[in-house]
Amino acid sequence: MRRTVIAGNWKMNMTPAQTKSFITELAPMVAGQDKCDIVLCVPYVDIATAVEAAKGTNIHIGAENVHFAESGAYTGEISAKMLCEIGTEYVIVGHSERRQYFGETDATVNLRTKAALAAGLKVILCLGEVKDERLAGITNEVVSMQTKLDLAGISAEELKNVIIAYEPVWAIGTGLTATPEQADETCGVIRETVAALYGRDAAEEITIQYGGSMNDANAAELLAQPNIDGGLIGGASLVAKKFTAIVDAAQ
Ligand code: PEP
Repeated sequence: MRRTVIAGNWKMNMTPAQTKSFITELAPMVAGQDKCDIVLCVPYVDIATAVEAAKGTNIHIGAENVHFAESGAYTGEISAKMLCEIGTEYVIVGHSERRQYFGETDATVNLRTKAALAAGLKVILCLGEVKDERLAGITNEVVSMQTKLDLAGISAEELKNVIIAYEPVWAIGTGLTATPEQADETCGVIRETVAALYGRDAAEEITIQYGGSMNDANAAELLAQPNIDGGLIGGASLVAKKFTAIVDAAQ
């Protein structure tokens, strides 16, 4: 059975002090929830505080990006080894905001994914179509191509540490949500692509999240879809009550 994973993406929000008080508030609210894995992906400077605050709880900590080189002249970047050493377990790779504002391509997403996996991190690999691609009726082709390019050269063994987050770009931070049927259908296309690449068992095992304005009001319906195994949550992950309600919906 594949695991349901509810992950928050804080983006560029929360200072270390806010991180400590948020996790102190959240931990008792989600304590005992064991039907899903709970992850908070936080800004780099918050990770050490988050790891410390989450000790002894069921909350796992992730980063929001990682560089593909082990070390070297990459001013401003952070390596997988650095993340591991401070207790990071997960990392988001290929978020649409990285693709849109910071020039990420499927090639660099693939490199970052490989570097993260080699260091022992679990990867939340984001992909999804933009609005024009959905309107043009090429969503399935786009997500299938991204899946193939982003996973190129990754072994079946490594794939066990990959979660795919299907995030239609037009639904991120916009308040627009894919309908449960749309989200399920596209997650199904991604699963079939994984099946073609790695076989049926791997496709049935991989966790595929939906992300895009998931919140306390719509989570239950989205998470009830057969191909949706969790959520990557932006805005609603910044409010402990809302994030807890999404975790509860995953039970
Ligand atoms: C995200 O940042 O991955 C995301 C889905 O954001 P939001 O939930 O705010 O749409």
